[in-house]
Amino acid sequence: MNNPNIAIPVRAPAQTGVDDTILPFEINALDLRGRIVRLGPAVDVILSSHDYPLPVAKLLGEAIVLTVMLGSALKFDGRFILQTQSDGPLRMLVVDFTSPGTVRACARFDAERIASAIALGEAEPGRLLGQGHLAMTIDQGPDMSRYQGLVPLEGKGLEHAAHEYFSRSEQIPTRVRLAVAEEFRGGENGGRRRWRAGGILLQFLPKAADRARQADLNPGDAPPGTEPHLYPEDEAWVEGRSLVATVDDIELIDPDLSSERLAYRLFHDRGVRVFRSAPVQAQCSCSRRNVESMLRSFPPEDRNDMVEDGKITVTCEFCSSTYMFEPHEIDAPDAALS
Ligand SMILES: [Zn+2]
Repeated sequence: MNNPNIAIPVRAPAQTGVDDTILPFEINALDLRGRIVRLGPAVDVILSSHDYPLPVAKLLGEAIVLTVMLGSALKFDGRFILQTQSDGPLRMLVVDFTSPGTVRACARFDAERIASAIALGEAEPGRLLGQGHLAMTIDQGPDMSRYQGLVPLEGKGLEHAAHEYFSRSEQIPTRVRLAVAEEFRGGENGGRRRWRAGGILLQFLPKAADRARQADLNPGDAPPGTEPHLYPEDEAWVEGRSLVATVDDIELIDPDLSSERLAYRLFHDRGVRVFRSAPVQAQCSCSRRNVESMLRSFPPEDRNDMVEDGKITVTCEFCSSTYMFEPHEIDAPDAALS
């Protein structure tokens, strides 16, 4: 990397921001790597297709940014699924990222408890989620084993859970910032609100692994009075995480601030290199064909229970697409198999 014979072109950061992109970057002088995610239409399509209460939509938006940030780092074709399961009013968030860059997402919640949390001013992310866990699953296809990482949700938000995951399971010093907001655009018919979201991930990956060590977790079984091991944090990491801590939400979602300019603004003193950005789009993987085979897999009596007004109607929880079938279409032999 430091071979002086290889000229690295130096140019000014792009002025124009491009929505729905993932921008990887590195700061060699500090052994830092990261990515900036900026979502416009992709997050708007997903959140607008549901009629979720505002704090639910916002939290799902954060989960989408986090999933895109982590899923796009996979070095192989596959799916990355982020799922929360917890006892708060927001019972479940599911975000599903398929390489190289499609995402879908949905939430399950208790509408009454959400409404009363909003009324009581208790709708911040940690309280909506409550206690439970966050699971991250990597699925490389039917013949491959699935990998799952779990981290407890302890009444705190998704950023906290991500830090815990990387510190406990991966032992990589990591900082994540996530932001979601609605932007109002005027225009004909009074204009409309559009969702925007963004985030930054920064990781400390020194060549000498012991530079990344962090203070031990409190050993629960140690005799009372035992001093915990405290390692001083590496100065390069302290500098990196302090810089990320200065990022405002608006910088992550501002359509007039490009991801490159944000990276430059934060790290230009140390020299930041950006890589080619990758696109991401909202896309569901449901289809009439898949819904039909799911219905065929149910016992006939269960299918009969689903008939309303002479039809079976199935709505995709992810994208709200509706599929309608006449019962005889499902009962008849599968045309595609005969
Ligand atoms: Zn769908």
